[in-house]
Order: sequence, then C-alpha cells, then structure tokens
Amino acid sequence: MEKRWTLSDFEIGKPLGKGKFGQVFLAREKKSNHIVAIKVLFKNQLKQSQAVHQLRREVEIQSHLRHPNILRLYGYFYDQTKVFLILEYAAKGELYKELQKCKYFSEKRSAMYIASIARALIYLHGKHVIHRDIKPENLLLGQQGEIKIADFGWSVHTFNRRQTMCGTLDYLPPEMVESVEHDASVDIWSLGVLCYEFLYGVPPFEAIDHSVTYKRIIEVDLKFPLEPIVSPGAKDLISQILVKDSSQRLPLHKLLKHPWIIQHVDHSEIC
Ligand code: AMP
Repeated sequence: MEKRWTLSDFEIGKPLGKGKFGQVFLAREKKSNHIVAIKVLFKNQLKQSQAVHQLRREVEIQSHLRHPNILRLYGYFYDQTKVFLILEYAAKGELYKELQKCKYFSEKRSAMYIASIARALIYLHGKHVIHRDIKPENLLLGQQGEIKIADFGWSVHTFNRRQTMCGTLDYLPPEMVESVEHDASVDIWSLGVLCYEFLYGVPPFEAIDHSVTYKRIIEVDLKFPLEPIVSPGAKDLISQILVKDSSQRLPLHKLLKHPWIIQHVDHSEIC
C-alpha cells in the first residue's frame, strides 16, 4: 500500500517560487532526509478556475512517469483548504530565467537540451502521453543542469481515448486509427519552436499582434535572422521539424540521429 503523507512528515524550508494557484517550498522528508519541493495549491482557487479536473489529470499522469528528464511527482496529500504536491526538487530552477539571463544559448547547450527533451518525449509518447505544453516556462533544471520537464497540466493520456473507441475501431478511417502518432506530433512541433528560441532568444512566429502570430504559424512563416549567427545544421533541423503537415515532421528517433545533434551531443548520451 502507498504511504499516506501528511504535512508533519516534512520540515518546510524556503519558498522556491509562486505559481498561478499557490506557492512552492523547499522541504525535507523527516524520516529519509530526502529533499523535495512541495507545491501548495488552494482548493478554492482551483475550483474558481475550474482547474480541479486538470490537477487530477496532472497528478495521475505525472506520478506514473519515471525518466531522468521528467520531474518526478512523488505523491500528494490535502487538508480542508489546500492540496500539497510532493515534487522532485529542481535545484537550478527555471530554464526560461537562464534564457533571459543569457539572451540565447550556445549551439552545444541548445542541442543537449533538445536531445534530452526528445528522449523524454520518446518515453512519454511510448506511454501514450502527450505533454501539449512544451515551452521554456515548463522546463526546470536539476542539480547537474539537466532538463526536467514539469507541468503536466495540459497533458493527455491517449490510451483512455483508444479504450473508449475500442468497440467501434473497425469503422475508423486510417487518419483516426493513426491519431496517437498524429497527436504526439504536437510535441515535436513545440520542440522545433523551442530549438529556435534557444538559438535566437525569441520564438519563431513572434509578433506584437496575436492575430499576426496566428497567421505566421498557419503559414509556417519561418525566417532565420542574420544575428545571432546560427549554423546551417541547426537551421536544417528546425526546418525539418516546423512542417505544417504533422505526419511529415522529423520523428524523434531521427531527430536524435540528425548531424547537428550528433555533432554537439556526446554519442554515449544518445544511446
Ligand atoms: P509553478 O506553480 O509550478 O509555476 O511554480 C512556481 C515557481 O516555483 C516556479 O516558477 C519555480 O521557480 C518554482 N518551482 C516549482 N516547482 C519547482 C521544483 N520542483 N523545484 C524547484 N523549484 C520549483
């Protein structure tokens, strides 16, 4: 049986940050001395924002995932007014703050991050989970500076959908039968956007007006500025990912074998 946690199991330390629904604190589990992050969420705020369902899904999905580049969710508990999530502590904090500080990342650093996220996505998609919200704000950094994908609030488990479709599978057209792969390609697209933002410091379809961004995405209006200088290999990889037809986007296992990734990422890390 899984352990039932309570607040008295933890010694609460310094605040690590504030989110939309509450605060995150450093904490130590008293018995094991294990350092964790505890996210405190207020039930009334969750209800007001109709985020209860979202949180339930986030907990259900994230607690079953085990990958070095995916933030662990060890467990949860609650009292009358609050929900507490016990999370892996990401010692080096938020990636987007690093990006803000550096303006943009080197090719090596970008390629290492992209390869790590690609490996985590291969694991996720293999478990029929699609993250659907890959962006710098949802990436944290561990003690060694390694990527930790966090925030599974928008993720879905496509297995449920397939289960409910079981009875009628015989009548489904090919594009719906293939919908798991099809949907997972949204995460590949985001990885292309992320790669661009790492290298240029701004996302590729950015515009002052939302409607312009929307149009630029629809048209895949991809332009590579002259500054900062980015290698042809990186541009080639981004161009192979940011493809309108989702079935034509570079599959993740091929992304890991792309020359630009091979050049910058230690081979032993890929295998
Ligand atoms: P969130 O509510 O998830 O947006 O978290 C608010 C802030 O707390 C984040 O922006 C991070 O700075 C920090 N934070 C959240 N989770 C962790 C964690 N597991 N380890 C370290 N810092 C975290």
